[in-house]
Amino acid sequence: MNILVINCGSSSVKYQVLDPDKNDLLCKGLIELSGDTSTFSYTKTGSEKISNTVPLADHTAGVKMILDTITDEKIGCIKDISEIAAVGHRMVHGGEDFASSVLVSDEVMKKCEENIELAPLHNPANIAGVKACQAVMPNVPMALVFDTAFHQTMEPDAYLYAIPYEYYENYKVRKYGFHGTSHQFVSQEAASLLGKKPEEVKIITCHIGNGGSCSAVEYGKCIDTSMGLTPLEGLVMGTRSGDLDPAVVTFLMSKLNISADEVLEILNKKSGVLGISGVSNDLRFINDAADQGNERAQIAQKMFARRVKGYIGNYLAQLGGADAIVFTAGVGENDEEMRERICKGLENIGIKLDSEKNKKKETVLSTDDSPIKILLIPTNEELVIARDTAKLVSESK
Ligand code: ADP
Repeated sequence: MNILVINCGSSSVKYQVLDPDKNDLLCKGLIELSGDTSTFSYTKTGSEKISNTVPLADHTAGVKMILDTITDEKIGCIKDISEIAAVGHRMVHGGEDFASSVLVSDEVMKKCEENIELAPLHNPANIAGVKACQAVMPNVPMALVFDTAFHQTMEPDAYLYAIPYEYYENYKVRKYGFHGTSHQFVSQEAASLLGKKPEEVKIITCHIGNGGSCSAVEYGKCIDTSMGLTPLEGLVMGTRSGDLDPAVVTFLMSKLNISADEVLEILNKKSGVLGISGVSNDLRFINDAADQGNERAQIAQKMFARRVKGYIGNYLAQLGGADAIVFTAGVGENDEEMRERICKGLENIGIKLDSEKNKKKETVLSTDDSPIKILLIPTNEELVIARDTAKLVSESK
């Protein structure tokens, strides 16, 4: 069953066509919308990447272009749109309404609209993607897969903030967590690598990319995660500060004579390793600068590692031990020195990294006698979206 996976940002559309039963990727690509100078890229598996500059007015025009390309006689990966059984959409915020993926309906879309206030930057774009697909392929079933759903198993004492309870009751102010599809995917893969079922293991997942979050997954269920009401909380990220004293906000408002929104903008876009190093949000450039003796770049590397280490310790305590720690996403999968920095000093609490295996990027990075396994598992959020979509569509028939 072929599934079209759509991940819409405010000015972008990432897409893939895949068959989740066979774990078969047919094509993938990215559209960056900017009016007459929009860019369109398409890679059919086994062929060269094609990139063009094209006029695309909006998400609907983008989706039309995707459909024309994937069914093109010469370069397409399928013959006809009827070969697409369903569309799976990423929806960032499901609020408390969605603890699992769902088929699209008017009622479901209404709830997603209501959740816009929780994710003003993300949900409108995701909703635009659904509407665009409905406009050009009205008879194809569609499903939504939420970044927040996997974390809905957290207990109130984990997801509430210690502020007056009525703010939760009245405005749903609480921790939601994000990257749920990734935490779910890699924790399940970890269980299978350990030869166990997810219900039999405790896993700490570290999804560290440009954005990043850690989760504590106990017997298949998330019990805590580092991102919060928004993706700003938790780890030190590419441009986000992660955890900090909320009083910093009002202090900066008064010192810089700026609004709360302007401070939030700084905390989201100008902070993290970018803010500390002044070099880049990308750790590859920070690593180069640090190697050349740039002290602020070196501090940024250390802060990044210290925060992840802190969450690993926190979650080890909450879980009462763990079977494995998983590294995934851009930094987790590629930066062996960062993994080394994070794991250094954790030997006495049962986390022993094997330097050679780490350098070689093996799947199991821990020493044979390490009580807690350290695993390197590439994430695959699109595969989760495609699997969930295929399952929902099959069940509905
Ligand atoms: P996101 O989905 O949050 O944008 P990704 O998981 O794709 O992020 O990760 C992208 C980030 O991964 C880049 O910004 C970069 O910092 C980091 N990255 C990728 N490769 C490397 C590498 N070899 N060394 C260090 N960092 C890397």
